[in-house]
Amino acid sequence: RELPGDSEAGSRRREVQGAAWSQVMPTPVAAPQLLACSAEVLALLGFDTAEVGSQAFAEVFAGNALYEGMQPWAANYGGHQFGNWAGQLGDGRAISLGELVADGRRWELQLKGAGATPYSRGADGRAVLRSSVREFLCSEAMHHLGVPTTRALSLVATGEPVVRDMFYDGHPRPEPGAVVCRVAPSFVRFGTFELPASRGDTALLRQLADFCIARDFPELGGTGQPRYADWFMQVCTRTAVMVAHWLRVGFVHGVMNTDNMSILGLTLDYGPYGWVEDYDPDWTPNTTDAQGRRYRFGTQMQVAYWNLVRLAQALGPLFDEVAPLQAGLDAFGERYAAEERAHLVAKLGLGEFRDGDELLMAQFRQLLHAGQMDMTLAFRALAEVDPAAPALAPLEEAFYSSQARAHVLPALEDWLRRHGQRVLAGGPPMAERRRLMQSANPRYVLRNWLAQEAIDLAEQGDLAGITELLEVMRHPYDEQPGREAYARRRPEWARERAGCSMLSCSS
Ligand code: AMP
Ligand code: MG
Ligand code: MG
Repeated sequence: RELPGDSEAGSRRREVQGAAWSQVMPTPVAAPQLLACSAEVLALLGFDTAEVGSQAFAEVFAGNALYEGMQPWAANYGGHQFGNWAGQLGDGRAISLGELVADGRRWELQLKGAGATPYSRGADGRAVLRSSVREFLCSEAMHHLGVPTTRALSLVATGEPVVRDMFYDGHPRPEPGAVVCRVAPSFVRFGTFELPASRGDTALLRQLADFCIARDFPELGGTGQPRYADWFMQVCTRTAVMVAHWLRVGFVHGVMNTDNMSILGLTLDYGPYGWVEDYDPDWTPNTTDAQGRRYRFGTQMQVAYWNLVRLAQALGPLFDEVAPLQAGLDAFGERYAAEERAHLVAKLGLGEFRDGDELLMAQFRQLLHAGQMDMTLAFRALAEVDPAAPALAPLEEAFYSSQARAHVLPALEDWLRRHGQRVLAGGPPMAERRRLMQSANPRYVLRNWLAQEAIDLAEQGDLAGITELLEVMRHPYDEQPGREAYARRRPEWARERAGCSMLSCSS
């Protein structure tokens, strides 16, 4: 609270000038019911398990009650959406309850879907169950995959209907509402800095930068412009690390607007995200983006760079010269390339990076595309191919189409031979190689249709799907006997069904 806040409380929609946040209370809901909780996040925050089962816990994390010391607020920020400056956006349906220090680490607890704020514009501040399940599960799945991300503590049903764009017989079909509690050291976004910059409010911009550095980047020494420069470079390299992981695990964010880019380099805002199944670098899960196709799987690195350029422009007033900002942007490219190489070495089981390895990876990705192969299954299967006598058998389960399979067959077999030779000439020994490859190529990812199956059950009041999926995603790199159903190719029924592959922004 060292930053200027809005002088008015309450949720009257307004432009908030000269302030970084507004005091606002969650709007109580009819019937809070705890649907799911992350055991790891509970432990991080130091909750005791008895508390978790209590109605008080459900009330707090539905927005009906506060623990002592909580002083809720909504943050003010702007952003570039789909390439265009959108002005003030802010937390339209996110309300932070407070910060909690546990084991020397500070966590912000933020409800999503807990009611209107000054930033809700024309919307209701609520969230539907289906998108809340998706955010809850994916936050935790990404964490266990080793991808920097915001976390999720709880998923609470509100007992109130929410109307979105779902229709039945031509009438709007109300959906169950829910509230997720997200947890992160900070939810500050690129757009947090863009908004005061766009208003020429350099004093607030500077205050925000100083606050963010002191609180979230305490390791940065120095003062003045060199300190800002180090900070920007950190943001750039952390973003590079994050996006390289997305490409490693097949994750598509889907809405990489600058208001959804975390200053800490955490995956933030799980909306119409998706997981690549039949490999296609041009795939986007976001139907709202179907025209522009801005947020495709394979171009996320370029989009991240574009977003960092917007951040650099916003931070411009803090610098006398552009060189330090350009240095940060250059570091993004370098760090991304280094991360990508490290991932490819691990994914292909190569031991160390050599000339030609990038080409080997590029050719494999081309084969995955032309062969319409499942990205997760194909990479995972590579560890099972004997480099001395490469055979296609382990990869068979990755094909979606026998025609596409036939189309790539000779080239794929040739690639497996070349990969085998490369592995034998300098790769680590067999056991070490499998371990390395399996730690970079997950067996389980949160395929959209898996989440949708859990949502369908939850909408019928059955929480088994959520509980089971949360459990499976806790160990994404382990073989989990009996859970093969969670490591399958997308079934045919899921190809066109809403929520199972493509998603809209409606949530
Ligand atoms: P998103 O596309 O999810 O990043 O959302 C963009 C902006 O719209 C953010 O400022 C959100 O807070 C706001 N927003 C999205 N959904 C709602 C909603 N149901 N009620 C109020 N604000 C919303
Ligand atoms: Mg957002
Ligand atoms: Mg969103």
